[in-house]
Amino acid sequence: MHDIDTIYIDGRFVTPHGTELFDLHNPATGAVTGRVRLADEEDARTAIAAAKRAFPTFSRTGKAERIALLHRLGDAVAARRDDLLDAVIDEYGAPVSRAAFMVDHPVNVLREAAELLADYPFVRRMGTAEVRMEPLGVAGLITPWNSNAGFICGKLAAALAAGCTAVIKPSEMSARQTQIVTEALHAAGLPPGLFNIVTGRGDRVGAAISSHPDVAKISFTGSTATGKAILRAAADTLKRVTLELGGKSPTIILDDADLSRAIPLAVSAAFMNSGQACIAGTRLLAPRSRLATIEALTKAAVEAVRAGDPRDPETTVGPMVSRTQWERVQRYIRIGMEEGAVLLAGGEGRPEGRLDGTEGWFVRPTLFTGVRNDMTIAREEIFGPVLSIIPYEDEEEAIAIANDTVYGLQAYVLSGDTARARRVADRIVAGRVLINSLAHDPKAPFGGFKQSGIGREYGSFGLDAFLEPKSLLGEGV
Ligand code: NAD
Repeated sequence: MHDIDTIYIDGRFVTPHGTELFDLHNPATGAVTGRVRLADEEDARTAIAAAKRAFPTFSRTGKAERIALLHRLGDAVAARRDDLLDAVIDEYGAPVSRAAFMVDHPVNVLREAAELLADYPFVRRMGTAEVRMEPLGVAGLITPWNSNAGFICGKLAAALAAGCTAVIKPSEMSARQTQIVTEALHAAGLPPGLFNIVTGRGDRVGAAISSHPDVAKISFTGSTATGKAILRAAADTLKRVTLELGGKSPTIILDDADLSRAIPLAVSAAFMNSGQACIAGTRLLAPRSRLATIEALTKAAVEAVRAGDPRDPETTVGPMVSRTQWERVQRYIRIGMEEGAVLLAGGEGRPEGRLDGTEGWFVRPTLFTGVRNDMTIAREEIFGPVLSIIPYEDEEEAIAIANDTVYGLQAYVLSGDTARARRVADRIVAGRVLINSLAHDPKAPFGGFKQSGIGREYGSFGLDAFLEPKSLLGEGV
């Protein structure tokens, strides 16, 4: 059992003021594997006060000092790789094939922030003015469960690179991963107060951070509904807010695509991170002229997806993170059928075979066709391995369907003609458009149009988001 009864404030592990205990589970078995004592509003306030005390000194540090500190943090997290890998599999259910990325990414984001900082122009000349990029103050960093260590380290890296201090509120469902990351960050030996980590409920600790007058900036990753609540809570004190929210990403297969390449890519885009990914390509737009072939190939590919034991190296879809998430996916599969979509693979219930005797929150990789873009399963984020084929007549209609969503996080365009794919990509309203690829570039901005969010993370845009320009004019400038 993993009993976690401390939070991290002012450079020390302390007992929370909050007394609520929250069960941690292994999603592959449904068994309780530990318990975390949650922080409350009082803990949030103590953590904010510590970050506020640390800010005046830290905000005046230079690049070299911050670069060294980011490398120390990166090395410290890298040193806990094995523990983190274990926790990501046991607590989140990440398949081993995916888990490696999830434990290397947090290290990489810290190192990339150090690299970025080296060339970042904090002082610029604009007309007769000297413009200085100033750190905003205390940053509240609120993260979801689906890539816990990566989000904690990514947001912290940008905040510290900018000269902000931080209060981090990770998801209560990933407390074990948070504990390991916290121990690692503590081992790096930073001055107290630079970062504080308070695991607690969103509507208590998250809400306290989002409304506190001493917090200047919120960087949030999570659902669109919570993002809107945070924006409202932050309005009274006019906090700067970055929101990384949900998606309903289209994968457009153009009629000239090489299907032997396009279908595996489309299925990987849909089912990455067991379908629990904001960037999942969950709407597969297929030209009617090739619909039957695309349906047959996609069905075969989905049926071949190995869903089950996350420790099996051939597994690509592990269990859903929680019973609630499992039930949510089941409900959407039922809604899909009720609204008239045609089930080609998967469906309700657990996958057969390999998992006999377990109560794990496994779902069947599911494929629908005959989906219209106004159906619930084409409009709402399911956050599980459910892929919908939506037929289209011509390129114009494909672009219209792709853009007919409240979201705009990511899109995929698959074609045999890259110039044509590029023309289509130029017309898609999304923060990232990937052409014949699942590429990621940490230097490129990441974030959403429309209700997928506000602002950008990663690279220089991500750093800008923790800074405010200040112009100096007149004599001596
Ligand atoms: P969630 O919105 O339920 O929770 C995210 C975090 O917000 C948690 O730490 C939670 O405790 C906290 N929270 C909840 N209510 C709050 C409130 N009123 N005030 C402040 N904080 C509050 O999301 P989740 O279920 O943990 O994660 C899944 C969602 O995250 C999906 O919608 C997914 O698309 C989104 N997501 C987006 C990105 C992105 O980069 N755009 C990446 C990953 C996940």
